[in-house]
Amino acid sequence: MTETSETTVRKLVIIGAGPAGWTAALYASRAGVVPLVFEGEMGQLAQTTGIENYPGFPSGALEEYLTSAIDPDRLMLLPPHEGDHVTGPELVELMRAQALAAGAEVITESIQSVDLNSTPFVLNDSAGNTFRASAVIVATGASARYLGLASEERFKNRGVSACAVCDGALPRFRDKPVCVIGGGDAAVEEAVYLARFASKVYLVHRRDTLRASAAAASRVLHNPKIEILWNRVPLEVLGDDASGVTGAVLKSTVGEEPITIAVTGFFLGIGHQPNVGFLGGQLKLTSSGTIERPIPFQTKTSIPGVFAAGDVADDHYRQAVIAAASGAMAALDAQQYLVSTGLL
Ligand SMILES: Cc1cc2nc3c(=O)[nH]c(=O)nc-3n(C[C@H](O)[C@H](O)[C@H](O)COP(=O)(O)OP(=O)(O)OC[C@H]3O[C@@H](n4cnc5c(N)ncnc54)[C@H](O)[C@@H]3O)c2cc1C
Repeated sequence: MTETSETTVRKLVIIGAGPAGWTAALYASRAGVVPLVFEGEMGQLAQTTGIENYPGFPSGALEEYLTSAIDPDRLMLLPPHEGDHVTGPELVELMRAQALAAGAEVITESIQSVDLNSTPFVLNDSAGNTFRASAVIVATGASARYLGLASEERFKNRGVSACAVCDGALPRFRDKPVCVIGGGDAAVEEAVYLARFASKVYLVHRRDTLRASAAAASRVLHNPKIEILWNRVPLEVLGDDASGVTGAVLKSTVGEEPITIAVTGFFLGIGHQPNVGFLGGQLKLTSSGTIERPIPFQTKTSIPGVFAAGDVADDHYRQAVIAAASGAMAALDAQQYLVSTGLL
């Protein structure tokens, strides 16, 4: 069982239990380092429904596999399985089961504060316990930014999405009009991606010039399927329980009349907030707020012995398979660090 005393120094603590955290835990366990995983609230993947692009899960009957692979007490906490694809919560649960079976330990608490300038590192959890570790992997993910409209919340996963790459190819958006909110690189990328599937893409921007780079901007300006609605902000997402999103009401920022557009998709392209608050500024961050990894293709951070994996350190790809891959890299980097410092 997990130690809660101050004195014990853990070889490796992993903060965060999404694809990055659980894959790091699996690789570390198999490398002979028993990691302690802190599992906070529900991560991004656990908030979504069908996952169609995680390798190894072709569509088809999954129930039997899920029942055999996931502890019944945990399985009943998941929404009943629907559809042909593995869902986000199921995928995270499968990763969790695999890592625990390999020997990882878990505490279902979040880390509230850390001292990364002390040796060993000190971590304080939400239950008031203090832990010490020789190496730490930060895999706390990021939170997609929403506008905070009640109607947005109502239609999440039913037309409201913060991830075009994840959801854009879904039948409800194919050959249908959709809208993307924002004017920066993230929004432009989402709009160009969605234009492959949707019949029309409205890019809704609150100003009269795009914040995106010139190259990115020209991709939307010259795409016949994309119409930019300048000086507009969403007032409300329209829809009903049967069909989900059916439209949006857009207010003018320059005093014109509000307009209503008919769309089946309302995509947020206003950025992601990496979950780094608990670090108290102790790790160097990039200009977009993700944890800086100074050596390309390695997971080391600005403090030796601390590694970063997943969306908390990735402001570009933000996909489950890439988060999982960087979790594996972080575990191998941490294991090497422990060996090279004689701690393993
Ligand atoms: C709506 C939506 C749909 C998506 N659909 C897809 C898809 O179809 N396919 C795909 O590949 N990707 C999809 N993504 C992206 C994917 O979810 C992320 O890329 C992936 O989850 C990142 O993994 P992660 O482990 O870095 O972070 P997360 O999955 O966000 O996990 C981070 C974990 O850290 C925990 N945590 C945070 N702070 C603390 C703390 N202080 N202490 C302890 N724990 C903490 C969180 O509670 C969470 O459990 C989607 C994202 C969203 C928002």
